Amino acid sequence: MNEAKLIWMDGEMVPWHEAKVHVLTHTLHYGNAVFEGTRAYQTKEGLAIFRLEDHCRRLYNSAKIVAIEPNIDYETVKQAHIDLLRANDFSANVYIRPLIYLGYGVMGLYHKHAPVQTMIAAWEWGAYLGEEGLENGIKVCTSSITRNPNRSTFGKAKAAANYLNSQMAKYEAIENGFEEALMLDENGFAAEGTGECLFIVRDGKLISPPNDNSLESITQATVLELAADMGIEVERRNITRDEIYIADEAFFTGTAAELTPINSLDHRIIGNGRRGPVTEKLQSVYFDVVYGRNEKYKHYLTFI
Ligand code: PMP
Repeated sequence: MNEAKLIWMDGEMVPWHEAKVHVLTHTLHYGNAVFEGTRAYQTKEGLAIFRLEDHCRRLYNSAKIVAIEPNIDYETVKQAHIDLLRANDFSANVYIRPLIYLGYGVMGLYHKHAPVQTMIAAWEWGAYLGEEGLENGIKVCTSSITRNPNRSTFGKAKAAANYLNSQMAKYEAIENGFEEALMLDENGFAAEGTGECLFIVRDGKLISPPNDNSLESITQATVLELAADMGIEVERRNITRDEIYIADEAFFTGTAAELTPINSLDHRIIGNGRRGPVTEKLQSVYFDVVYGRNEKYKHYLTFI
């Protein structure tokens, strides 16, 4: 992993290798924590965090959902993102990982009295699904694992525990020779990737499932906004896996995955098996926005 100099822990800047927790940290045993994945890009005017406010808001909403009372207030944590990037003096694009978790002092499942801790780490990180994937697309399979059902888990929370499901789906996909997995919901509709939302293009129309069975994705919202602005017709509705097979184009969106074309699903080639024209146009506009090359969307950037 690309190490950085400092990690922010409960208000202090701590050297990377000293940012430690006890082995009886509550979260390590029972998995209750919430986190974010946020990116900062090297723009012409320096490093800038994309949609910091939205990521921080989702972090605190996630904590509310899983009944964790944050130990640090929202404004302090938001400012700490900026301070951390300044203190680390990065020279490439950065991935930021804030985590609100339960620390050492209480065992057992009743977590209310476990001490709450907050940390933010950041490191230089390139394309999550590879530079090659961004340009040439990826091979995806439909997972044997159903997306966390709404009756038993809280999908609106970016909760650590939800990611056991995603990890198992990702593991299965890669071990079977694919690059990413698409999870279906309990009714067989496309829910989301292991860390991405899905889009398809049919007859020039952009279609993405509603967020009933996915995280409320910030990248998905951005792409929907950009598409509407570009005059592309947009629809939110359920998508079945066979509709993806016959779509003209398909792609995944996520902070880490950015906008990654899907070449095939379950060995069915989608469209021409390469990044399609609508995907390419949206990808290019998305990168203009995150790199600060589009004045209209500069309000989404927090300059460091
Ligand atoms: N779904 C899941 C399960 C995710 O982990 C992510 C990544 N945070 C997304 C969708 C995409 O969300 P965002 O665009 O806000 O990163």
